[in-house]
Order: sequence, then structure tokens, then C-alpha cells
Amino acid sequence: MKSGLTRIKSIEDLDISGKRVFIRLDLNVPIKNQIITDDTRIRGALPTIQYAISKKAKIVLASHLGRPQKPEDREKYSLTPVGDRLSELLNREIVLFEDPNGEGIKGVLGGIASNQMLLLENTRFAPGEEKNSMDMAANLASFTEVYVNDGFGAIHRAHCTVAALPSLVTNKGIGFLIKREIQMLDQVLYNTKHPFVAILGGAKVSDKIDVIGNLMDRVDVFVIGGAMAFTFLAAQDIPVGKSLVEKDKIHTAKELLSRFRHRNKKVILPVDHVVAGQLKEDVSCQITPTAAISSEFMGLDIGPRTIDLIGTELQKASLIFWNGPMGAFETKPFHKGSFAVAQMLSESKAFTIVGGGDSVTAVEQSGLASKMGHISTGGGASLEYLEGKAMPGLEVLREKS
Ligand code: AMP
Repeated sequence: MKSGLTRIKSIEDLDISGKRVFIRLDLNVPIKNQIITDDTRIRGALPTIQYAISKKAKIVLASHLGRPQKPEDREKYSLTPVGDRLSELLNREIVLFEDPNGEGIKGVLGGIASNQMLLLENTRFAPGEEKNSMDMAANLASFTEVYVNDGFGAIHRAHCTVAALPSLVTNKGIGFLIKREIQMLDQVLYNTKHPFVAILGGAKVSDKIDVIGNLMDRVDVFVIGGAMAFTFLAAQDIPVGKSLVEKDKIHTAKELLSRFRHRNKKVILPVDHVVAGQLKEDVSCQITPTAAISSEFMGLDIGPRTIDLIGTELQKASLIFWNGPMGAFETKPFHKGSFAVAQMLSESKAFTIVGGGDSVTAVEQSGLASKMGHISTGGGASLEYLEGKAMPGLEVLREKS
């Protein structure tokens, strides 16, 4: 069977016993006033770290955090709270190494105790990280005997600790989290069970065009909701009032609709909407009788008949992929469509994959996260993978055939 992991070693295939192992993670967690508000990504990294501990490896952990722009950002984007949380969860001492270039780290590693490991400070503090610098990579490679990437959320970035560094290391592979992410997404790309329903929503058509294109032959039913549906409705000359429309993408939407038709793909677009005069908490809203929206209103969620229509397709599905909310779910009462989709996914017999970003937030807020088949930890990365794009962080680990 074809797989995105062909000729890529996993940490279990590598000899890491007692070796200096560099583990690139995605510990980019939300932090407010030095407090981590959601540690999901940290917990997701634990199996790979624990495996390396069990092999008595000398561990150097690395991750980016946020988008620091200037030197004053150092405190706000420091990995200190992340190190503290890791230390609690692993019951190990985490030594924060201030210089993400790793200058002088070899000596420190030489004397590291068995209950300690190093955590490099935010890799984006180093100017070479986002430039994919070979100089920075050479520094880090000078102490790295084995390189392991387990930071799925950053795997699509050509950054130094993702791409340049592993290009200089011979013994390299992926950790358990990336392995599972790719195996799950491969069910969409290569091992597709039918009927396969793809539910796409969110703000912009432009973000999803490549995914729709790459999944066109695999998907049986496309459900299009969220604000992006209005560009598709406008492409059919259906009035959408003040709703968000990407005017420059109407032509693309027309082309996609015609490709769906030619390939006999079923497309579910909203047949009714929850509309209001503005997007505001608890604003008075109404449900439209048809897909048309009058000029004083904007569509902010899918309506009940649309939810039923989606439900009918989901009941028949064997595989469901969902990316992007069905409405402006952060603002009540426009969360209902997204929560209803989450509920239907949780009750479905199909294998369900929620692909990152705001749809993950909607699933978590609905309290149904544990009922999903797989929830991706990397929104941008999972979309790019499904677009069929080569991921720098994965390709650099693939052995030549
Ligand atoms: P994306 O990042 O493309 O997945 O878009 C997610 C954003 O789309 C969320 O912040 C939603 O509030 C927003 N969104 C979804 N549907 C609508 C809508 N009908 N009107 C305005 N915003 C929407």
C-alpha cells in the first residue's frame, strides 16, 4: 500500500541507545501571563520523549513558540513555562539551554545526569531558524548523533531545525506523533474507504482550493459550509446579502462546481442559513427559508435543513474528513451548525478525521473530542499534506530509493 512514510524510519528503527538525540517537537502551546492554557501539544510529545528516556539517550529537545519578532519578545515567547510543564509530566529535570544555536552544548551534554535533559530555548529566537540556515544547522549537527522529528505542526516549514539540520545528519527519523498523523491522513489519500464525505468550511475558499483539487477523485460527497459557501452560492447567482464573499474567487468556485458536475461528485451547499444584521454575541437572528439571503442580512451559520441534509450523507459514510467550521462558531448562537456536525461525527459509524485549526476548537468546545477517530495536531500541516504537497520536514528524512 502506498504511504507517505515510505522509506522513512521511525524512532524504533533507529539505534538511539545512549546516543545524543535531537528531538524536534511542536510545543507551540497557548500561554497567557506565563500560564499554559492548553497543554495538549506537550502531552502529545510525551511518548517519543519517554521512549528516548527508556533507551538512556542524551536528549536535546527543541521547538518554536509563537512568532517572536524583536528582542523584547524574548520573555513573552520563552519556553520556560513549557520546560516546567514537561518537567512535571516526565518527572525529570529539564535544563533550559538559552542559546537555540546550541553553541557549547556538547560539553553540557557530556556531563548530563540520567534524570536530566536539555530543552533549547525557542528556536525562532535564532535568526537562522526561519532562514533555514546551514550555519545554524552545522552547529546543531555537531552534537547530534541521531535526529528525530516529532513536531507535526511544523513539518511543512523549511526551517533550520526541521529541514537544514536533518539534511546534515545520517541517522534520522520520525517520532510516534508524526507517524500516527501521517498514517491517519493516509487513510484519506491512499487507503480511502467509500463513501468518503469531505466537510469543508471556514472563512476562505482560497485556503481550501488545493485540498479540494487533490481530493477531487477520492471524495464522493463534498459538503461546503462556513463563509466559503457564500462564494459558491454567489457563483450560482444566488443572492447572499452582506455575507462574506471572496469576489476574486467566484470564478474559481464556478470552475470547481463544473468539475464536481463532470466527475459526478455530490456537493452539499447550504439550503438555509442562520442570518443576522451583524456578527455579535446574542444578536437577534432568523432562519432563511431558502439559500437566498436578503441584502440587510449576513449568513453566520448553516440552518436546520442543511444540518439534516448533511446528516443524511454522514449516515451513509465510511470515511469523513472535516476541516473548517460551519459558521462563526466563536460567537453564540452561531455555534450550532458546527456543534451539530461534531455531534453527527461522534455518532457516525465512519472513521472520522478532524483536520486541524478551528474545527478542532469546535469539536473540543462541544465536548466530543474523545469520540473522534483522529484529531490532527497541525492544521496547516495536515491541509498541506492533503494538498499533495511535499513536506520539507518529511522529505529530508526519506531515504533515496
Ligand atoms: P478557517 O481558518 O478558514 O478555518 O476559518 C475559520 C473562521 O471562519 C472562524 O473564525 C469562523 O468564525 C469563520 N467563519 C465561518 N463561517 C463564517 C461565516 N458564515 N461568517 C463569518 N465568519 C465565518
